[in-house]
This record gives sequence, C-alpha cells and structure tokens, in this order.
Amino acid sequence: MNRMKIGFIGLGIMGKPMAKNLIKAGYELIVNDLNKKTVEEFVALGAESATSSVDLASKSDIIITMLPNSPQVKAVVLGKGGVIEGAKSGTVVIDMSSIAPLASREVYAALEAKGVDMLDAPVSGGEPKAIDGTLSVMVGGKKEIFDKYYDIMKVMAGSVVYVGEIGAGNIAKLCNQVVVALNISAVSEALILAKSAGVDPDLVYQAIRGGLAGSTVMEAKAPMMMDRNFKPGFKIDLHIKDLNNVLETSHKLNISLPLTSQVMEIMQAIKADGCGIEDHASIVKYYEKLANIEITR
Ligand code: NAD
Repeated sequence: MNRMKIGFIGLGIMGKPMAKNLIKAGYELIVNDLNKKTVEEFVALGAESATSSVDLASKSDIIITMLPNSPQVKAVVLGKGGVIEGAKSGTVVIDMSSIAPLASREVYAALEAKGVDMLDAPVSGGEPKAIDGTLSVMVGGKKEIFDKYYDIMKVMAGSVVYVGEIGAGNIAKLCNQVVVALNISAVSEALILAKSAGVDPDLVYQAIRGGLAGSTVMEAKAPMMMDRNFKPGFKIDLHIKDLNNVLETSHKLNISLPLTSQVMEIMQAIKADGCGIEDHASIVKYYEKLANIEITR
C-alpha cells in the first residue's frame, strides 16, 4: 500500500477507470461522486467513501477531480462544503477535467491563498486509454509541483507532459479538441466525396490512411462512420462544451478561429437533430444530409 492518500471526486466514464488504476498501483483512495452506486463499487474494492468534498479533502494528501466542466469544478472545489474548506496547507488539487483555462486560474488563485497547490491536468485518449492507463496528460502549474506528482499522474497515463503555468494544461486540451473536431469534419467530407463520385469509401480509406492524410482520428472514426456505429466514446455534447471553451478563450484573446466556429455550428445542428449523446463521429450525418447520401462500406 502506498502511503499517500488520494481523494478522488468524479467517477464517471473516465474517472472510474482512472481511480481503479490508482488502486491497482497500491494507492489508498477516498472517493466521492453523486452516483452512490459507483461509490459503493469502490468501497467493495477497498476504497473509503467520503460524506462530502470537505470531508474527503480533510482526509487526503492529494485531491484529484474528474468532473464534466468549469461550473462543477468550481462548485466542488470552491463552493459551500467544498474541497477548499477541508484541504490542508501543503496538499494539492490535481484537476484532470477539461475546463476553461480561465476557470483553472480562478480556482488556483483561491486555493493558493490557503496554501494549497493546484495542477490543471486534462487528458486525451477516451475511455479505452483510461482503462489501459495509457492516457495523454497535459499539465499546467508550478514545475516543481508537476515533478512532485508526476509518478501519480503516470499511473493513469502513457504520457504526462508539462506545458506551462496554471491553465496551460487546459489550453493544450482545447488545441487538441480543435484538431480532433476539424479532423473528423475533414474525414467526413472526404468520404462523402468518394461515395458521391461512385468510389468505395472503404477503399479510399485503405488507400490514403498510410499517407500524409492518415491520422489517429481517421483510424478511430472512419470505421465507425462506415459501420454506422455512433455509440459514445466522446459525446457531441461534451465536444460542444469544449468548443465553447475554445471560442470563449479565443474571443477573449481577440483572435479568430473560423474553421472551429464552423464545426461548432455543425455540431449544434447534429445536437438539434437529437444526436447530442452520440459519438462525435456523427458529424458525418450533417454532410450526409447535404449530399443526400449515406456512408457505408
Ligand atoms: P461523466 O459525465 O461520465 O462523469 C462525470 C462524473 O462526475 C459523474 O460520475 C458525475 O456523477 C460526477 N459529478 C458531477 N458533479 C458532481 C459533484 N458535484 N460532486 C461529485 N460528483 C459529481 O464525464 P466523463 O466522460 O468521465 O468526462 C469527465 C471529464 O473528462 C470531462 O471534462 C470530459 O470533457 C473529459 N474527457 C472525457 C473523455 C471521454 O472520452 N469521455 C476524454 C477525455 C476527456
């Protein structure tokens, strides 16, 4: 058993396998989630359950959060009965949720005033990599705090990269989400072009995947599109949340991201069609409507 006690809040699609990997690595865990069934599952694995965020924080050396977005992180950490009321000076909050970088800075400032450190450490890779412990983690905060807690983050990840001061982790994550969204759209447009021209989209995929156009996104999403498999994975709703954070950040920086805003509107149309809880591969459905065609193998 590792001596450090980790408080883990947010045991959803991602948090559950991440917390399980920490238990497997020998860490002592104390957990909390709105879903009490999941908490019971962890108690059966030997974890302790906390009655509240303040209770969890007062008993932990490290507090990891894996929550949906900025409002939930602010409520759990800074709200009434939140982590900030229980966390001891010298401990750290590692927020692994994908949230607005400015929200990370706000939470950091409040914690720092109490002598509690913070890293923003969002992840990429989705549920399969969370289960395998091979996520990519992008981290913002003080470098010495990153070095101190590197090994713990590495338990859940294949790569853990320091990107800069607090908020930089979430900036990197937003960059990741821009590339993924535009790439799924590009793959969709290409497969629609192939099919409309009477060429088998699967053969086009096989022909181009090894060249410059090939990508991790193409490998993951083109087969899903052709198999009509839109089970999430990563939901359109969550990607809209991330692109909202991208555009809010870019507008505050006074820069324009024209392709991102276009894909954001495509995702809104998909959501309006009742597909917000589908995988983001369902972006292809937007193009299918425009061309009146369906991508199949
Ligand atoms: P999820 O909705 O499955 O899990 C969120 C968990 O937080 C739920 O179990 C919920 O009960 C819990 N929660 C919410 N509010 C709470 C509160 N006040 N107190 C305690 N628990 C609370 O979401 P997820 O897919 O696990 O995503 C978590 C984060 O990771 C998001 O920011 C998401 O963008 C990011 N992310 C997700 C993926 C993915 O593929 N799903 C990949 C990379 C990053």
